[in-house]
Amino acid sequence: MEWDAIVIGSGIGGLTAAAALARCDKRVLVLEQHFVLGGMTQTFERQGFRFATGLHYIGGVGPQPGGAGSFGRLLGWLGDGTLKFAPLPDHFDTVRLRDATQPGGEFSFTFGAPESDNIARLKALFPEEVDGLDRYARDFKQATRAARQMFALHGLPKPVASIMGWLKGGGMRDAAQRTLAQALADIGNPTLRQLLGARGGDYGLPPAEAPLMLHATVMGSYTHGAWYPVGGPQRFAESLGATVRAAGGELRTSAAVAGIQMERGRACGVRLLSGGIERAPAIVSAMGAPNTAAALPRDAAPGWQAEIGQFKPSGTYVALFLGFEGDIRSAGIDGANHWIYESPAGPDALDWNDPTETDAPSLFVSFGSVNDPAHTGGFTAELLAPCAWEVFERWKDSHLGARPEDYEATKSWIEQRLLAQFRRLFPALADRVVFHELATPLSHAAYANAPRGAMYGLRMTAERLLDPALHVRTPVPGLFLAGQDVASLGIQGAAMGGFMAAASIEPRLWKQMSR
Ligand SMILES: Cc1cc2nc3c(=O)[nH]c(=O)nc-3n(C[C@H](O)[C@H](O)[C@H](O)COP(=O)(O)OP(=O)(O)OC[C@H]3O[C@@H](n4cnc5c(N)ncnc54)[C@H](O)[C@@H]3O)c2cc1C
Repeated sequence: MEWDAIVIGSGIGGLTAAAALARCDKRVLVLEQHFVLGGMTQTFERQGFRFATGLHYIGGVGPQPGGAGSFGRLLGWLGDGTLKFAPLPDHFDTVRLRDATQPGGEFSFTFGAPESDNIARLKALFPEEVDGLDRYARDFKQATRAARQMFALHGLPKPVASIMGWLKGGGMRDAAQRTLAQALADIGNPTLRQLLGARGGDYGLPPAEAPLMLHATVMGSYTHGAWYPVGGPQRFAESLGATVRAAGGELRTSAAVAGIQMERGRACGVRLLSGGIERAPAIVSAMGAPNTAAALPRDAAPGWQAEIGQFKPSGTYVALFLGFEGDIRSAGIDGANHWIYESPAGPDALDWNDPTETDAPSLFVSFGSVNDPAHTGGFTAELLAPCAWEVFERWKDSHLGARPEDYEATKSWIEQRLLAQFRRLFPALADRVVFHELATPLSHAAYANAPRGAMYGLRMTAERLLDPALHVRTPVPGLFLAGQDVASLGIQGAAMGGFMAAASIEPRLWKQMSR
């Protein structure tokens, strides 16, 4: 066979798996259906403005020793030191809640690092909630520990995972089923409860649905700060791609995989949509679990395919990409993200269900260009609004570049409404917008080949966290799962999914986990 391994999908999950195998001298072929590499780390350019798609900040890549900086060291090893990260401001997540009792009708708080400082400042603001905050901080720590064990279960060799599941299963099940809303139940002040759940957009769930374990993992990744890749998120594909090529591998774009080839009960290659076949003894699928199951012949591990089919997809969103005239730092923009809730329900009402009739109830606004010291072109912002898939579902069978008129009209209407909302919420930038473009859930579905436009792959419920079907080793010999559907979402979670898949093929990689 020409290749030692084939990796399907070039998001951070696929890139990490491919680069890790390349570091073990494997020749890897990476196949990407889109015409750009990078999955949700891809960037695109319009009229001199460069936009990020699925990365606005990450944790774990700072100079800290031990586990706190281990993701950065792993990336450094995989990318041969060519990936650099710049810190966001110390206070990097500004939450703005609608509150009629406050001047300007808004209550605002900025989260930063370390987490203990957030808790201390919240205690000063809400002195009557000191006990509740202490309990929340304690639960948060416990959930973080339980999450580590849980995520390892999705990657450890199956016999070890079974023993660990048997020993710790009960505790982990309890931990996974506890929601953030339950952990916040002791806190009486509704504003404080909303603040603590306000960054749930990072994992796409409201507090009532979010496993505390997931909340603690994602929020905990920013305990020591937040960073942005120098040169933009596309640096991941450039840097890790160079590692793959240096070992004799190849990264191919516009190369959609239509099916996984089987021989004597083993995965042995892939069939491309264009007709060709590529063969390798190990196939790593980083295109999402549902796409992977759909690519298998019906009679290959039918029970597993059915199990994967039961999971619900995560939510969808619209994104407004903005380009500005001049340096927006002079208008007070310091690179912090803004989490804005326009409805009194705060983070309990994430989704925009009727975007042609109302403003978005929740918005995330990121100014990545301010955080990238090497950014080129004009300053930009990316504005995300969680939005119900049903709003766009009726056009799901139309094709990119040939959508019907009523879709274009709806899209343009939503774009104008969001733009007006942005101008109202950021008055100092209102006159500086010189470029805007909207992406809908159908854009995401097309560019990422994401079923139902799912933003974060499978919905991160307790059932999904606990299910052993989402293991890097699938029941099909030779087929491995990588990316955000394995252990956890986010750049770090998806990368770990990729790394564990590579380590299951090449066990000497496990020791690199402790770098
Ligand atoms: C709007 C948005 C903002 C986000 N912001 C952040 C953030 O600030 N920080 C953070 O940590 N995380 C963030 N995330 C989450 C993070 O981007 C994802 O969890 C992560 O990038 C997923 O990586 P992945 O490799 O699993 O999947 P993807 O990046 O989706 O990669 C899957 C790849 O597979 C390809 N593919 C699919 N089907 C086929 C096929 N048949 N053949 C070949 N290729 C195929 C797709 O085209 C895609 O390139 C964000 C996500 C979104 C959507």
